[in-house]
Amino acid sequence: MVLIYSNDRKLALEMLAKGRELADEQGKQLTVAVISNKDTATDEYIRHGADKVFVAHMDMDSFKVEEYTDILAGIMEKTGAETVLIGSNRDGKELAPRLASLLDTGCVTDITDVYIKDGDLTAERVIYSGNAVAVERFIKKPHIMTVPGKLFDPLPPDDSRVGEVITENIDFEPYPSKIINIQRMVSEGINVEDAVSIVSCGRGFKNREDMTLAEELADLLPGNTMGCSRPISADLKWMTEDHWIGLSGHKVKPKLYFAIGISGQIQHIAGMRDSDIIVAINKDPEALIFKSADYGIVGDLYQVLPKLVDAIKTKMS
Ligand SMILES: Cc1cc2nc3c(=O)[nH]c(=O)nc-3n(C[C@H](O)[C@H](O)[C@H](O)COP(=O)(O)OP(=O)(O)OC[C@H]3O[C@@H](n4cnc5c(N)ncnc54)[C@H](O)[C@@H]3O)c2cc1C
Repeated sequence: MVLIYSNDRKLALEMLAKGRELADEQGKQLTVAVISNKDTATDEYIRHGADKVFVAHMDMDSFKVEEYTDILAGIMEKTGAETVLIGSNRDGKELAPRLASLLDTGCVTDITDVYIKDGDLTAERVIYSGNAVAVERFIKKPHIMTVPGKLFDPLPPDDSRVGEVITENIDFEPYPSKIINIQRMVSEGINVEDAVSIVSCGRGFKNREDMTLAEELADLLPGNTMGCSRPISADLKWMTEDHWIGLSGHKVKPKLYFAIGISGQIQHIAGMRDSDIIVAINKDPEALIFKSADYGIVGDLYQVLPKLVDAIKTKMS
């Protein structure tokens, strides 16, 4: 049995697509685990490919990894799960290795693909900041892996699908650790992951105000959002963390990605390499970013951006 779990519904729907493929190939059932008494999306999971939804009915307001590990292990025991796909968000990344350790099995994190090869479940993941791909074969059951967002597209909903919803209480030992304060991340409420076009700023901008040049460009593009490299967010605090793209930031896949004054270090590329079209503006003709770009403009952003904005406006009018 293939089991899907994420406290992010969108991610669970994406994983269902791959889960369906794995389940069908092995003649197995596909189940979604829900740990909540608030998630009402059970029908949605079935429409998107699940055979069953197992709801562990819990009155839990916040995620406590020790307890969620025990609950998920309980669900695996009850459902006979052999392959478990866990959404690779902050909570899932904490949960998966703990679960693997509890069940004395392996865990492959942040897969980029998973398939059956020569009868064995095999996962791929990017290593060395994107310089190599590791192909890893599971030698022990259960198979546990974490799946990043946007890796798979959800299956189109099928209203004719029927499935079973099982609701049960799972016993778990309350852990003595206490959550005493939850500090919300400073956010402007933007979602780079869903943006159609992203205009990203790097250290090539001399000060915060100059980024209005990039904003003017973004305003001309459909579904736009501003993004940035790590120093702009983490060091200079010119943008909040929800704009930060890269290995330790957000992974994005827009149709159009502008990298402006960004050198193109591998940690930035790791977050935006799947963009459909990448346009780089950099004054250094040797900048690494040009190796990943579909279009490159060698020039000073302070001269290039106003001209580009004018040219787009003229074209649009
Ligand atoms: C563990 C780890 C994780 C990391 N995670 C991330 C991550 O998630 N995201 C991320 O972005 N980085 C990450 N980094 C940092 C990364 O290695 C780089 O340091 C960072 O991406 C550099 O940001 P930058 O390109 O904006 O700045 P710089 O490297 O300083 O590049 C600035 C660029 O602007 C160009 N430039 C300067 N002036 C102009 C001008 N007037 N016109 C046009 N071009 C100009 C320069 O030629 C240069 O190429 C990580 C690093 C580590 C070690």
